[in-house]
Amino acid sequence: MSTVLVTGGNGYIGSHTVISLYENGYDVIIADNLSNSKMEVQNRLEKICGKRFKFYNVDCCDEAALEKVFSENKIDSVIHFAGLKAVGESVRMPLEYYSNNINSMITVCKLMKKYGVNNLVFSSSATVYGMSEDVPFTEESPLGVCTNPYGWTKWMLEQILRDFAKAEPSMKVCLLRYFNPVGAHESGLIGEDPRGIPNNLFPYISKVAGGTLEKLTVFGDDYDTPDGTCIRDYIHVVDLADGHVKAIRYLESHDAGVSLFNLGTGKGTSVKEAVAAFEKACGHEINHVFGPRRPGDIAVCYASTEKAEKELGFVAKYGIDEMCSSCWKWQTMNPEGLSDD
Ligand code: NAD
Ligand code: UDP
Repeated sequence: MSTVLVTGGNGYIGSHTVISLYENGYDVIIADNLSNSKMEVQNRLEKICGKRFKFYNVDCCDEAALEKVFSENKIDSVIHFAGLKAVGESVRMPLEYYSNNINSMITVCKLMKKYGVNNLVFSSSATVYGMSEDVPFTEESPLGVCTNPYGWTKWMLEQILRDFAKAEPSMKVCLLRYFNPVGAHESGLIGEDPRGIPNNLFPYISKVAGGTLEKLTVFGDDYDTPDGTCIRDYIHVVDLADGHVKAIRYLESHDAGVSLFNLGTGKGTSVKEAVAAFEKACGHEINHVFGPRRPGDIAVCYASTEKAEKELGFVAKYGIDEMCSSCWKWQTMNPEGLSDD
């Protein structure tokens, strides 16, 4: 059985990916410092999978602590999710973001080299395309100018990994550029569980729908789009998780080097359409008002999915209705999120 180390595997995308890996016959080891997730996720994963995963509470920047994970286990592949991801926070705390996101990846790479682990999947983001609106974004679209330190860490890490793979001829690196992951596992036991007031659209709508927050402010309705609100490519987190299994399989069956794939649906949904879809899922109106544009937002962002379909065999199965209904189930089953440990 092939073993995958999932760093940040206690987080939103990581926990869903752990399930997909397990369901596809992989053995999983999780390393997470719980900086943005709760230990209760491990209990939930056990309920869903009927198995307790091996969990290390380690900071991936701490080489000595992380080395234990490599020395105590025979690891075949790594999926590196561990990182800080809040755009606004990254503007306020750039050093923490550069330090955590860059050092954790470099430490993982050093240990992969030392222990002869060659397969690496890295969580990148459509944010590396910058402010361009030349949609759909293909993997050949030029890298852009990022608007915040979080985005730059992804941009820089992609380059660091290209350089690493060039210097280490046996390394196989797969860069996955996610569009907008939303939704939750069908069980309603795991989902996105942000601390404090959410910044992203779906967690915010969920809290308004559930009555924890009073109203959603739609950031701008004067964009050059059919209904005036911004368009994004939302992808169900369970589809995204499946994309990671396909990426691991791809690495297992390909030669060394760097591969790169967008993970999206290729379909754009406006903020107004997202609100309407959520209203259908929860059965009542979502209180919302229109406010000014949010600085740094582009009008339209969606993926070209051709390459992922052709080379990875990845096609998203779920649409916006399933994304909303799964979010709503997660929200109603866990109105306060997961309990603290
Ligand atoms: P998340 O915050 O839910 O999960 C990240 C996990 O990593 C958390 O459990 C956190 O505790 C852990 N972590 C952070 N720094 C760590 C460190 N130094 N050592 C060990 N663990 C650490 O975030 P997510 O939404 O699941 O995102 C996972 C990855 O995907 C991140 O790298 C993120 O930047 C990237 N990504 C996310 C999105 C999105 O919209 N959610 C979009 C594009 C890319
Ligand atoms: N958005 C909004 N109100 C909110 C949060 C987000 O109108 O409270 C809009 C935002 O302007 C963007 C879309 O919803 O057009 C998706 O935002 P999110 O932060 O989820 O993703 P990103 O813009 O980073 O892709």
